[in-house]
Amino acid sequence: MRPFTYQKAATGRGRGPAIAAGGKGTRFLAGGTTLYDLMKLNVEAPSHIVDINSLSELEAFDTSGANELVFGALARMSDVAADPRLIRDYPALSESLWRAASQQLRNMASLGGNLLQRTRCAYFRGGEPFACNKRKPGSGCAAQEGLNRGHALLGGSESCIAIYPGDFAVALVAFEAKVDVLGLRGERTIELEHLHREPGSTPHVETVVEPGELIVRIRVPTTPLGRASTYHKIRDRESYAFALASAAVALQIDGDSVRDARIVIGGLATRPWRCRAAEQVLRGRALTPEIARAAGDAALQGAKANRDNTFRIELGARTVADALMIASRRA
Ligand code: SF4
Repeated sequence: MRPFTYQKAATGRGRGPAIAAGGKGTRFLAGGTTLYDLMKLNVEAPSHIVDINSLSELEAFDTSGANELVFGALARMSDVAADPRLIRDYPALSESLWRAASQQLRNMASLGGNLLQRTRCAYFRGGEPFACNKRKPGSGCAAQEGLNRGHALLGGSESCIAIYPGDFAVALVAFEAKVDVLGLRGERTIELEHLHREPGSTPHVETVVEPGELIVRIRVPTTPLGRASTYHKIRDRESYAFALASAAVALQIDGDSVRDARIVIGGLATRPWRCRAAEQVLRGRALTPEIARAAGDAALQGAKANRDNTFRIELGARTVADALMIASRRA
């Protein structure tokens, strides 16, 4: 047991001091579904915890707005996944939440925490004696020569090839969502597509959120691409598993041809991976299985396999193609 101090965040106007307590060594506690795990594994060892569950104003979400959907960072995954308007008008968002974790975890986990969940790389979670630059900068990366069936094919570096494990962020990037973060200097807005960093030579720095900053809400612009969307997730088992490959796709179809498209892949890259070249393959064309497959191949362009995961290039292309055909049936 490592000692740490614990503080409940103040509500309302008193929120400032709690945020000011944030900084290096401080972790915010929401649902705890990642933090507790990693503390028990000795991967996370915070010196101070700020419990933000008392910030009840962050629990609300509103999907009825004319211009944007707004989700408080403490809204629970299960509540948002069951929202009727989301299911009808933005099925990719609802499906990305339903297909993550178990019901018990979805009941506890917050949306803000979900975006910041950390990788499932076994060498990261396993601790010593495995080398891991993300857990211990400069120590090396055991996955490069080790078991890397589940590691990234896109966005990796010599320092780290860990995948970003989340689902919801992948779907949010398809809708060009933003997050508002609150820190000592007030609020700022980050485009979701730029929230997560590629590892480069500093894999321990996973997002552009600064120490002490707290995600307070997620905003999704309303769009005609919402209804013909899906989040398609391929796993080793049907449920309660992370993606081997996933795709969030959204389409706007006029007559026989695709007017606009969004394609983002998950489970294959070090961050949610938007595939603009694949989107371009579709625009102005009729969506046939052959065109969908061509978009899938374009989405995986540049994929670099490791010893154990070559099969996921083909799997990724098929996942994108299947997702496009599912979404097209909703247009
Ligand atoms: Fe650590 Fe990344 Fe290498 Fe996994 S892939 S061992 S997280 S450095």
